[in-house]
Amino acid sequence: MADTFQAVLISRDEDKKQSVEWTELSEDDLMEGDVTVAVEATTVNYKDGLAITGKAPVVRRFPLVPGIDFAGTVTKSSHTGWKEGDKVILNGWGVGETHYGAYAERARVNGDWLVPLPDGMSAKDAMAVGTAGYTAMLCVMALERHGITPERGPVVVTGAAGGVGSVAIALLAGQGHHVIASTGRASEADYLKELGAAEIIDREELSGPARPLGKERWAGGIDAVGSHTLANALSMTSYGGAVAACGLAQGMDLPASVAPFILRGVSLLGVDSVMAPKELRMEAWQRIAKELDHKKLGAIASVVPFSDVISAATDIIEGRVRGRVVVEMPG
Ligand code: NDP
Repeated sequence: MADTFQAVLISRDEDKKQSVEWTELSEDDLMEGDVTVAVEATTVNYKDGLAITGKAPVVRRFPLVPGIDFAGTVTKSSHTGWKEGDKVILNGWGVGETHYGAYAERARVNGDWLVPLPDGMSAKDAMAVGTAGYTAMLCVMALERHGITPERGPVVVTGAAGGVGSVAIALLAGQGHHVIASTGRASEADYLKELGAAEIIDREELSGPARPLGKERWAGGIDAVGSHTLANALSMTSYGGAVAACGLAQGMDLPASVAPFILRGVSLLGVDSVMAPKELRMEAWQRIAKELDHKKLGAIASVVPFSDVISAATDIIEGRVRGRVVVEMPG
């Protein structure tokens, strides 16, 4: 009999009602791909929470193993770029949405989707960063391309105590930016300061309907929240500034005015991690390895065993997770 391993499986019944269960799979059950990876660590991103709770239609194929990112070791490969023993990271490409994902001890994927684990980074470190942290780096890079240097003025980070927000604060503070952290959790003030936030504001300042133009408070920002929060972040961005938008924790809508764009030349920079080209991914991961303070990463991440992954997915949707959750695989 083939070796079996534990996996989380999302199914849907005839009434389209979604359910989540633990199951045993073998490698024969995995989907098509030219590289098989022993998953050593994965994580719980907001999107994983949406997939497991069914709160948004993230899963587009049933049944499906969820989990949008993992780090591990190649066990089999017919792809020219990878051989047995290589250490790899996977983020996105529809894994955990349309292709069997990380919440199993083995994954089989297209080798083109993988990036090498940077030297000196463990699988657990990589998943402490995870898709949320790698997206934070993509946002930092987008602001840089727009010329948002520390000299231009403060930068705001919304959803500050979450995964994207925490890593964004650590990266921006590390570059010398004056970071204004917007959070709904005043109790996390010390944590956010430890990551490098210079100022903390209550997210309620940004969560109501935005005026077309507000007082110019920051040169740029990273927004993981969307909706009114993004509209307010834009309306308070100073002349020529930019906000990198990657998330929708408050909502997918954008009830904003064009005033910041046409009267202040403000730019809205869209950031997607799922289909980002490989060169950008490689650059982001190499820069994370060099620039993200390891001590701060330790403060950001908590570790849970694989057996707790379903409850952690519910926690993230209910706003109970601080920073990042690393899921350690058995064995
Ligand atoms: P987290 O849940 O870790 O963080 C989200 C944070 O947003 C929360 O911690 C909270 O911050 C804040 N928040 C939650 N609900 C609300 C609300 N109703 N109003 C205002 N603020 C709220 O999620 P992640 O950091 O993993 O992801 C953040 C967002 O980025 C998600 O929407 C996710 O889907 C998106 N994302 C997008 C990617 C892309 O490719 N574009 C990749 C990765 C993530 P606080 O407690 O500090 O107020």
